[in-house]
Amino acid sequence: MPKIYIVDVTNRDGVQTSRLGLAKLEKTIINMLLNEMGIHQSEFGFPFTHHEKNYIEANLELAEMGVLQPIKLSGWCPMRAEEIKESFKSGKLKNVNLSISTSQLMTEGKFSGRIVRNPEENPAVPNLLDIMTENVQLAKSLGAEIVGVNAEDASRTDDEYLVRFALRAKEAGADRFRYCDTLGYDDPFTIYRRIRMIAEEVKMPIELHCHNDLGLGVACSVAGAKAAIDGGVDAYINTAINSMGERAGNADLVSVILAMKKASGLAGKYLLDEQVDLTKAWKIAKYASYAFGVPIPMNQVGVGANAFAHESGIHADGALKNRRNYELYDFEELGRGEPEIIDTGREITAGEYSGIKGFRNVYDQLEIEFHNDKEANDILELVRYANVHTQKPLVDDELRFIAKYPDMARKIMTMTPLR
Ligand SMILES: [Zn+2]
Repeated sequence: MPKIYIVDVTNRDGVQTSRLGLAKLEKTIINMLLNEMGIHQSEFGFPFTHHEKNYIEANLELAEMGVLQPIKLSGWCPMRAEEIKESFKSGKLKNVNLSISTSQLMTEGKFSGRIVRNPEENPAVPNLLDIMTENVQLAKSLGAEIVGVNAEDASRTDDEYLVRFALRAKEAGADRFRYCDTLGYDDPFTIYRRIRMIAEEVKMPIELHCHNDLGLGVACSVAGAKAAIDGGVDAYINTAINSMGERAGNADLVSVILAMKKASGLAGKYLLDEQVDLTKAWKIAKYASYAFGVPIPMNQVGVGANAFAHESGIHADGALKNRRNYELYDFEELGRGEPEIIDTGREITAGEYSGIKGFRNVYDQLEIEFHNDKEANDILELVRYANVHTQKPLVDDELRFIAKYPDMARKIMTMTPLR
């Protein structure tokens, strides 16, 4: 039976979003936490963008070292030869999604006649099908192992063209077809019909990339995944932690996992990648909230403050008698339930102006020891830079990462603007 995998796009869609951003160290920690959570793939950035280069390379090196394993790291790239060549220049990148708009509206609105959709429309002008084929073949020739072809605005693209485009992508050697509901226009019923049709006609794994403009991002993602499976192909759901993504956001990571594991029509009937470890949900949601500087709403699915809170008489009484009366799943399943210790007395934090004594104290608390003064001073210097880099107090996972992989931390934080 085909399976459902998760491709998290927080480090790509999340960071490109207006008013949202992450430092490269924070993006790295997100990759580490996604890996710990057993997530199949992280779309971890823009490999052709100059200020991402060191971060991209260092994360690929961490993968080679076995640290960022088994998660697959993949880049996002527009379908332009120049950017694709740039992305594969280091020889380290293995996986990529190549994106181009397929709807009549966007093709006309964005390319204004310079590119047409079909060769029949105007043979004198480049067409999408040939451009896509050339770019997929280029990426493959540069060493790409998994190439996903993204149909941007797929939900506003007519059926016939989508199938034609996906068939050509398969023919060109692409491994997956990404159906982008770029504007969140689909509903669970429309996306089910369309994905089922594409799955049956194209017979190729399908990625679901759903936005939340109508509040349907998670619903459409799981409906689309069900359609892919019913149509006989694997599904890859694109998610974002705490739904951080363009405008109203992407399908929330934790909600998608819960829907697949707990919804009446999905649980036990559709196979979610068994590597996914929901008990890491609480940790990853809290870290992303801190790193983005965006609080988790009180009523957030699974990880909100009220997700397991009861007050009204009948509910509180019922929940106390048997949690299943008013709780669909257990808080322990999400890694909740441990008390959080907040220091109310003296606290030493590590920052850009820290000195050696305070720094030693911070690492003593983490039970990390240094072999000699030179090592301690080297790590202290990196911690100072990391704080300049993130502009907020470093958390334990960041401090541990720096102490354990100082060379990687140095590389990730090094950015030199082009002249
Ligand atoms: Zn998107």
